[in-house]
Amino acid sequence: MKVFCIGRNYVNHAKELNNPIPKEPLVFMKPVTAVLKGNRDFYYPEFTKNLHYEAEIVLRVCKNGKHVQPKFAHKYFDALTIGIDFTARDVQSKCKEKGHPWEKAKAFDHSAPVGELISVDEVDLSSIEFSLKKNEEIVQEGNTKDLIFPFDTLISHISQFFTLQKGDLIFTGTPAGVGSVAIGDELRGFIGKKELLTCKIK
Ligand code: ZN
Repeated sequence: MKVFCIGRNYVNHAKELNNPIPKEPLVFMKPVTAVLKGNRDFYYPEFTKNLHYEAEIVLRVCKNGKHVQPKFAHKYFDALTIGIDFTARDVQSKCKEKGHPWEKAKAFDHSAPVGELISVDEVDLSSIEFSLKKNEEIVQEGNTKDLIFPFDTLISHISQFFTLQKGDLIFTGTPAGVGSVAIGDELRGFIGKKELLTCKIK
């Protein structure tokens, strides 16, 4: 099982970090040890002083595939949820400055909390509203209608390079509003009004 992540897939987020709008999906990966399930607590890592949340819609791959055409892509995921792409922003900035890979900033242990999965049949894939609360305040709100590269394009693009395998997860990118967390904070992720993820920072 592997985790794909897409960077800069919402215009308003690319702009808030002064990044260019990508011409093709920006793909990176996290190992299986990054996944945190079951609303378990997250322990603030000692190597960062600026840990950011990025709330994202996460797709679950339901069958193996390679070179998937966009028109068949919808057959390759059957469930989704909200997840957090935790990012050590200070570490990432150093990696970016030097042109180094950014795994240390994004792929560390438990950097990918994922919520409870729901069936794709429960939502309108082209317009999924999602939000993240930090403590009681809404800090991020997004809608998949604003994706630069929609789900079918992502599935097709990723599968040109990597064999999709049943159980893989795809983090589809974060909207604007990313920010830092501190020990004691609680993050809660919603699709529509449905709460699917809780993550306490310890
Ligand atoms: Zn992200």
